[in-house]
Amino acid sequence: MSEGLSFTSPQEAWEEGFTRPLLRWYDASARDLPWRREPEPYRVWVSEIMLQQTRVEAVLPYFERFMRRLPTLEALAEASLDDLYKLWEGLGYYSRVRNMQKAAGILIEQYGGCFPRSVRELSALPGIGEYTAGAILSIAFQLPVPAVDGNVMRVLSRAACSKLDITLPATRRILTEIAERILPSTRPGDFNQSLMDLGSGVCRPKSPLCPSCPVREACSGYAAGEAENLPCRPPKKERRSEKRTVLLVLSPKGVLLHRRPDRGLLAGMWEYPGLDGWFSPPQIRALFPTADSISQLAQARHIFTHVEWHMQGYLIRTASFDTPENCIWAGEEESCALPSAFKTYTALLDKLRSSQAEII
Ligand code: SF4
Repeated sequence: MSEGLSFTSPQEAWEEGFTRPLLRWYDASARDLPWRREPEPYRVWVSEIMLQQTRVEAVLPYFERFMRRLPTLEALAEASLDDLYKLWEGLGYYSRVRNMQKAAGILIEQYGGCFPRSVRELSALPGIGEYTAGAILSIAFQLPVPAVDGNVMRVLSRAACSKLDITLPATRRILTEIAERILPSTRPGDFNQSLMDLGSGVCRPKSPLCPSCPVREACSGYAAGEAENLPCRPPKKERRSEKRTVLLVLSPKGVLLHRRPDRGLLAGMWEYPGLDGWFSPPQIRALFPTADSISQLAQARHIFTHVEWHMQGYLIRTASFDTPENCIWAGEEESCALPSAFKTYTALLDKLRSSQAEII
């Protein structure tokens, strides 16, 4: 068995205990993914943005559909916002696709529709950080640039049995230096992808599969029995809890939708109009004195990264066509992508529309 790795281990020890076995494992078991078959920069970029916060299996159908509808930077730059949201519906974090469209515009205007080949230029584009820049440069252009994300930081922290707080910028710098040092200049794209695969499939956040890991013999975290306790991070802050009232306002013209502000949570997305806090049925009646009927709906909850919504819904039927500011009436045939935060109410609305029956 080789000696366990640390941040100060010589280059050869990392190569022998980590880089080579990892690449051998990748050669034998790499997943066959559409962006790997044709690693063009546009495809690599789209896949990497989709893979943020989402598992590979879930991304595959979205990726194929996106590529069919928007196969080029030009198609992406020209797509309507509603089309983009539709293609992204279910992936969440819609700012990702808005940023992609902005970046596509810049790439066309400033770079003649080509991807620049430097981390500095790529990471200056909206939505592209150093990790995504590294992934594009190494996978699409075979440039020796590391791609260090949370998965990779976890793997390297465990391999070196590091007790450094992974949330600190200084730790990130150290781990990026290690990733640079162990990156083979001959196969940088494969190496970065092998690290990604190892992090997502073997060296998982919880319950790492150490006995079947290709680098276990050199892994200091495994040898010390510390794999599951690493990487170190400070205790999590409590998520903020917010109460909201969600209004499904129905008229013969359709359901009332409100466009959220361009900044902040769910920026620019359509939503059912809402109120801060929970309103009682008499309070809702006071707000809609001419409504034909008002029904209280089920409560629902949605968890975002930093905030948790506790929602109380109401179904309001009205014959009034008044259209408040930033609102539209959406008929059944109109397709406005609504965030999954509202899925309970969207499902109720679909049920109501299909059965034409009372919801409650
Ligand atoms: Fe991760 Fe375990 Fe492999 Fe170490 S041996 S890299 S802790 S899966």
